Amino acid sequence: MLLYRLGPEGFAAASDRDGNARFLHSDPFAGAPSTWQLGRPVDLESSSLLVPIQPGKIIGIGRNYADHAKELDNPIPSEPVLFLKSPDSVIGPAAAIVLPPESERVEYEGEIAVVLKHSLRRADRARARAAILGVTAACDVTARDLQRRDPCFARAKSFDTFCPLGPAIDVEPNLEALWVETRVDGAVRQRADGSAMLFDILDLLVYASRMMTLRPGDVVLTGTPAGVGPLEPGAVLDVEVAGVGTLRNPVEAWKGDA
Ligand code: ZN
Repeated sequence: MLLYRLGPEGFAAASDRDGNARFLHSDPFAGAPSTWQLGRPVDLESSSLLVPIQPGKIIGIGRNYADHAKELDNPIPSEPVLFLKSPDSVIGPAAAIVLPPESERVEYEGEIAVVLKHSLRRADRARARAAILGVTAACDVTARDLQRRDPCFARAKSFDTFCPLGPAIDVEPNLEALWVETRVDGAVRQRADGSAMLFDILDLLVYASRMMTLRPGDVVLTGTPAGVGPLEPGAVLDVEVAGVGTLRNPVEAWKGDA
């Protein structure tokens, strides 16, 4: 089952794998998908899709694929590398990634994103698994030049529009069979199985929940595989995640504040 949010009102819709979608009358954070009350059918093709979740906080993970750590000349970490992205960096499907004037090198990082259903604090793996609402696609857009220059990642990771999420949340994900693929103008730039993560999704939730309580709707970006590269104005970015579908966002130069 896939969970969408439709514009302009923000109504929730749930769809089966064949694209048969209906309005959702249940709180997706309350019961299991099998208990959800569904309403009249909705045509996803003619609907505008909003970001499926507006997170309270976004936890990023650095260097979680060995081949990506290597391509940026970083050591393989002995424990997860945590950072935070601003909730205001979130955009939904089809919204533009805006390249800020402060950076000359903005890069895509296609990632598998995990959305929390329940709070977690100092959790074990079993509780972490039970606290997952689902999985979506994300781009951890990064100003690489600023990331290299700054002692921490806050600025490089958190410009407005630097966190596309969507198009849907797969609420019945197979965590052991995930993959992510990133395409720029249709050309494949990144492709990896989730099994190549140094720390798997449950490891990351266990680890992050030691530092901070994870809340319903919080999102954990699980790191990017090798193949990162620059985004240019006019490009079209696709991040596809197994079971989720394709998150597509155009890239624009900053044109000044209106
Ligand atoms: Zn990343």
